[in-house]
Amino acid sequence: MGNAAAISLQEFRQARVQADARRHLHERFDRWLDAVEERVQEKIPTLDEMAQAVFAMRQELTGMITEALVGQAHAEALEQQTMLCPHCGRLLRVRVSANRTVETVVGAVSLSRPYFYCVRCQKGFYPMDEVLRDSQWAVW
Ligand SMILES: [Zn+2]
Repeated sequence: MGNAAAISLQEFRQARVQADARRHLHERFDRWLDAVEERVQEKIPTLDEMAQAVFAMRQELTGMITEALVGQAHAEALEQQTMLCPHCGRLLRVRVSANRTVETVVGAVSLSRPYFYCVRCQKGFYPMDEVLRDSQWAVW
């Protein structure tokens, strides 16, 4: 019973994260459309003029979609508040959220990911970077 309640709470949180991410993405998509329309000078543009404007702005669109999907898929890791130091096992609290922009084949992807520092070991950690390192599309 307790287990089922915990699962549904997790599902509820995931649904909420997805709904928030979608709403945010739709807002950004609206701004992208505005920017594309601003690029087109003619009142009634030809197909070629419209295609050129969309082509010029395509990486901003595909990068933003990728960014939103990655942020949604790793929402929990991006919000991580504590971690155990992999060297000494000490509990570390998040220091800052550091922004990093990665150029991918579909455009720039920016993530604000948590940074941890172990005073004893004098080492810093970005656990999110480990999560994303398998990507063949991105160069950190
Ligand atoms: Zn340590």
